[in-house]
Amino acid sequence: MAIYLDHAATSPLRPEVLEAMMPYLTTHHGNASSIHASGRRARQGLDEARETIAGLIGAKPREIVFTSGGTEADNLALKGVAWAASARGRHIITSSVEHKAVMNTCAMLERRGFEVTYLPVDRYGRVDPSELAAAITERTILVSVMAANNEVGTLQPIAEIGAVCRAHNVPFHTDAVQAAAFGPPTPDAWQATLIALSAHKLGGPIGIGALYVRQGTALLPQMQGGAQERQRRAGTENVAAAVGFATAMRASYRETPNTALRDRLIGALTGLTGVQLTGHPTERLPNSASFVIEGIEGGDLVAALDLEGIEASTGSACTTGSVEPSHVLLAMGIDEQLAHGSLRLTLGPETTAADVERTISVVEGCVARLRASAPQVAASA
Ligand SMILES: *Cc1c(COP(=O)(O)O)cnc(C)c1O
Repeated sequence: MAIYLDHAATSPLRPEVLEAMMPYLTTHHGNASSIHASGRRARQGLDEARETIAGLIGAKPREIVFTSGGTEADNLALKGVAWAASARGRHIITSSVEHKAVMNTCAMLERRGFEVTYLPVDRYGRVDPSELAAAITERTILVSVMAANNEVGTLQPIAEIGAVCRAHNVPFHTDAVQAAAFGPPTPDAWQATLIALSAHKLGGPIGIGALYVRQGTALLPQMQGGAQERQRRAGTENVAAAVGFATAMRASYRETPNTALRDRLIGALTGLTGVQLTGHPTERLPNSASFVIEGIEGGDLVAALDLEGIEASTGSACTTGSVEPSHVLLAMGIDEQLAHGSLRLTLGPETTAADVERTISVVEGCVARLRASAPQVAASA
């Protein structure tokens, strides 16, 4: 079995999640909008899933909108608020290290006449709340800053950001897809108006997520059709997935992540020559170890590790050496050449100390081998 260290990309389905989903994939096959007994049973499963998720994050069940995933939740938050508020103003503020689901939605809105401010970040990838305060104008209709970064694991000062938004009376959306794997998002403590979630980053099935929408928020639906999800997201509800999502979330919060394994990985790899940690040293996701490594292409290293049975990531969507380096690393001020050598290792509940030790020695060996075979001009050019 491979050592799977790519939990930030997707996490394996928890056995109890599959078990909870099974009845809804087999005998409980009704449409949750049907009146008959099968429909009512499906509706009950959906209602319970919604209540569980709402209860875990301290929200009301009516404030949870199920979506097809984190991407759709981000799209619904940004476009839904932008279109609903466009008569009042057309200015949106986000950060320069967001997931593509936010970045590319903002780019689309820019093409449709919205103005987007991309806040800079410090070398650890953190937004300065006072810079956010300075960027807010009378025309600002939404702020969107992620709770935790998917590439480098950095946690944002989310409650401070929420407080700034509240003080200026601007709706605040946060992409908490990564953060939500390690503790419930807290709409009230964060003073968040909208929060994007996804099941498959916390041991649930791929293809379901949710958007928390604070009661009273004006949101234009992005999917037209039936009256599901209180008319905010049309389409027959994916009951089995919703049940799996709720089960996975509850299971996640019963665990304490093993930060000692992550710290061992960080300590050992940053001890190698030309390897540096990316993201914040302490304010980071408990399972995330990310690096830039001199003299290699991240994609080559990931391929080499795969041959040795270790599944990792460069941390960005691109996997081949020739493509653009990560916008996150560049925003953090990392040199473009160095940014090509990114490696992200994200641990899961099944990761053992032996897995970590093997990973350390394999990474060391692969890096040495790749450097030795690299064209000599690369270093001086
Ligand atoms: C994975 C991820 C998403 C996208 O979620 P999907 O459910 O895969 O669409 C959005 N934001 C962040 C931070 C993510 O890590």
